[in-house]
Amino acid sequence: MRSHDPDEITVTPLENFPPVEQWDDWVEYDAKAWPRKVEKHYSLIPTICFNCEAACGLIAYVDKADLSIRKLEGNPHHPGSRGKNCAKGPATLNQIDDPERILWPMKRVGPRGSGKFERVTWDHVLDVFGAQIRKALVEGRRTEVMYHVGRPGHDGYMDRVLQAWGVDGHNSHTNVCSAAARLGYALWQGIDRPSPDHANAKFILLLSSHLETGHYFNPHAQRIIDGKMKGAKLCAIDIRLSNTASMADWWLAPNPGSEAFLLLAFANVLLDEGTFDRKFVEEWTNWPEALAALAPESPRTFESFLAALKRHYAAYTPAAAEKECGVAAAKIVEVAREIGKAGHGFASHVWRNAASGNRGGWQVARCLHFLSVLVGAVGAEGGTNFNTADKFVPAPCSKPPPQKVWNELLYPREWPLSHHELSYLLPHLLLDGRGKLAAYFTRVYNPVWTNPDGMVWERVLRDEKLVELHAALTPVWSETAQYADYVLPMGVGAERHDLMSQETHAGRWIGFRQPVRRLAMERAGKKVEWTWQANPGEVWEEDEFWIALSWRIDPDGSLGVRQWFESPYRKGERITAEEYYRWIFENTVPGLPDAAKKLGLTPLEYMRKFGAFEIAGSTYDTFKKPLGEKERAGASDDAAKRIVVKEGKAIGVLAEGGARVGVPTPSRRFELFSQTMVDWGWPDQALPGYLESHVHPKHLDPAKGDYVLVPTFRLPTLIHTRSANAKWLYELSNTNPVWIHPTDAARLGLKTLDLVRVSTRIGHFVNKTWVTEGVRPGVVACSHHLGRWRLFEDHGTDRWASAVVTREEVAPGKIRIRRVKDVAPWKSSDADSSRVWWSDGGVHQNLTFPVQPDPISGMHCWHQRVHVERARPDDRYGDVEVDTNKSMESFREWMALTHPAPGPGNLRRPLWLNRAVKPAPEAYKLA
Ligand code: SF4
Repeated sequence: MRSHDPDEITVTPLENFPPVEQWDDWVEYDAKAWPRKVEKHYSLIPTICFNCEAACGLIAYVDKADLSIRKLEGNPHHPGSRGKNCAKGPATLNQIDDPERILWPMKRVGPRGSGKFERVTWDHVLDVFGAQIRKALVEGRRTEVMYHVGRPGHDGYMDRVLQAWGVDGHNSHTNVCSAAARLGYALWQGIDRPSPDHANAKFILLLSSHLETGHYFNPHAQRIIDGKMKGAKLCAIDIRLSNTASMADWWLAPNPGSEAFLLLAFANVLLDEGTFDRKFVEEWTNWPEALAALAPESPRTFESFLAALKRHYAAYTPAAAEKECGVAAAKIVEVAREIGKAGHGFASHVWRNAASGNRGGWQVARCLHFLSVLVGAVGAEGGTNFNTADKFVPAPCSKPPPQKVWNELLYPREWPLSHHELSYLLPHLLLDGRGKLAAYFTRVYNPVWTNPDGMVWERVLRDEKLVELHAALTPVWSETAQYADYVLPMGVGAERHDLMSQETHAGRWIGFRQPVRRLAMERAGKKVEWTWQANPGEVWEEDEFWIALSWRIDPDGSLGVRQWFESPYRKGERITAEEYYRWIFENTVPGLPDAAKKLGLTPLEYMRKFGAFEIAGSTYDTFKKPLGEKERAGASDDAAKRIVVKEGKAIGVLAEGGARVGVPTPSRRFELFSQTMVDWGWPDQALPGYLESHVHPKHLDPAKGDYVLVPTFRLPTLIHTRSANAKWLYELSNTNPVWIHPTDAARLGLKTLDLVRVSTRIGHFVNKTWVTEGVRPGVVACSHHLGRWRLFEDHGTDRWASAVVTREEVAPGKIRIRRVKDVAPWKSSDADSSRVWWSDGGVHQNLTFPVQPDPISGMHCWHQRVHVERARPDDRYGDVEVDTNKSMESFREWMALTHPAPGPGNLRRPLWLNRAVKPAPEAYKLA
């Protein structure tokens, strides 16, 4: 663990990294002046990378002569990333210097989608949106203001803003990303994200490509290698030979959608061979409820429960799994025995991958965590913890009350258990007549490109009756920004304030993202009121934008909004970003004030200087913590139910000889059996189980050209839709061919680089093939990162990445996107733009995907049943064709599979289950 004592600060040694004492004036010779020795003086200022969720530390080298940012390197004082970054961290520099970047607030001057914009002032933007939102609030239209986020960059800031406005308007991207896995974890423990302790594990099981492309890529990758260096074994379950799988001891590539079956086969071996932690299961699961459901007539003993559990999972033998999953039974037994041997040292993780691909994918996470529970690895050293144990989210200076309204455009009643908003269905819900939006903000979010069925998004974003006013808050042009009324430039990782903390390892830390040029100006004695005054052009940051907008909505405070944006230090005056963070650092981060004091710094100065702080304390076994005196006051023990009760609610458990806090489920234990699933109409899903996917092999006949398309995998060098402004990254990755196994390629008469037409239910795309043994027969795969397009020659999406396309309505409702110009060199202020040598840019596949909302988790099920054939004579590379007439059919068919609210108590959703920006309890009641 790191010390707070400055004399004992230990950092991962990096050769030649400048010592912190010299960060205010670091001197290097100017490489360009060589062989002369010309000194350059730099301010080294820490910030946090914004190019994925992992929040690695960066150090910006700000040239003191002209305050330009010359490079960005890893921050060795950052506990998560320890001075190391992936390629995307240093590429922040490209994003800052991008000659294509949007520098000013822009207003549309032609029809939506016409590509005609003009520069306006921030003042104008605040006036327009302030008036529109104020009107909606005054008229009680509190479900018509919506903020839709791709990459948040900060925990909780927007929750506070939206609750201060009193609207139910938070929308996210989570249901096209991780919501299914989150539901699987939440049903077990009320906490939706795992935190594997890879560094101390004995066996690591990944259903994600963590080492190079997955969740928490760089910090996790470091710890996985740490673990391997200490002898841990690694198994990767992935349909594709990812770089992670290539480094693994076992690569298992099951039939897509059969992963839960495979995991249950591991469980079957553990139960059969008795290599599970009996005590943990007895003490910490709600086995009596499971027994009552599985074998109501049996004696109420743990032995009867074990017998019933074995019977329940008896069908999931390795031999049966071999048949269903296509993985050799002997391999399954081998891996299961390793899991049993690792015991508490079993670290596991699933993110996206199978959970986000399949109908019932949420059961993949549930079955994976079943293994962790069986071997007692939850919360253990080397095991799999909760994110809440390894992450720190501080409270702000004031917190508005929860909103009293419920927005059915976010959480429609058809999906009462959906873990996040049905975000990608927004256009379908609007077209279904369920409401409209008065003010819509997309923030670092590109739904036209990212989401399935993007042409329906385009249709709705063009419709001024459904979306009255749309602002795209974005660091880059995007396919969505093209249709916005206002395009508002927001800062990249070195141009904004945010607080970040992530579950990167067994430890807790907090990191401070900062606008480094602003800091350098302030260090040089220049006064800066707003961050846009220090950033290139008038690029702003969201924190300040929301503060300014909130004051514009409620200038005299009469709506009750303004009070939440007043300074905690200067009564009645507008809060500044500096004050917002200063208050948090002074009041809520354990250990920070003392650590700062030892260095003669204020807490804010400490964070400005080091950019991160490690919070002391063990993160293991948090659920075993004894209940405190205060919590126990007025509570009583219910020995029969093994819980501690206060005011009619379980507040803890009786376990391991004492009263302990447990986990935030109704039973306060790990819920092997979920009464919630029973109560909300899914009794057959009450236990970890296997659901046949919509891409089950029985639906496919490869001999007729029917395959599963796996479209979810990432590339390590790209950032979803935010790397088009990073030339280094596009030089590394600029094509996304369709992976196909040699046997399938032979059947279809394809060889590498041949054009192939891939048809979904609503359209098709034309791409190149890559014939490889790195994918299962019967499966084709295509990375989702590439295929950026623009409608206009000089804007729409950055030219480093995008092809110019035409958009034609070839028949009513049938849209064809056809490329008319490849990625090509062009003249700009950056000489590299005329050196662009790549021309491909890849193919956009998501446009051709119908929406497939899982009836329980609400997650879009990304895997597609497709027909694959050689491209037809008229097909051209990059063609995408979509029949939007079929879009609503798929929406309605999948929606018909749901079990709508109300549930018990006439509720829209179980009160105990988390919800993004949780409303007041009364909003949960259906009228
Ligand atoms: S893993 Fe890479 S992209 Fe993600 S935060 Fe770290 S450096 Fe940035």
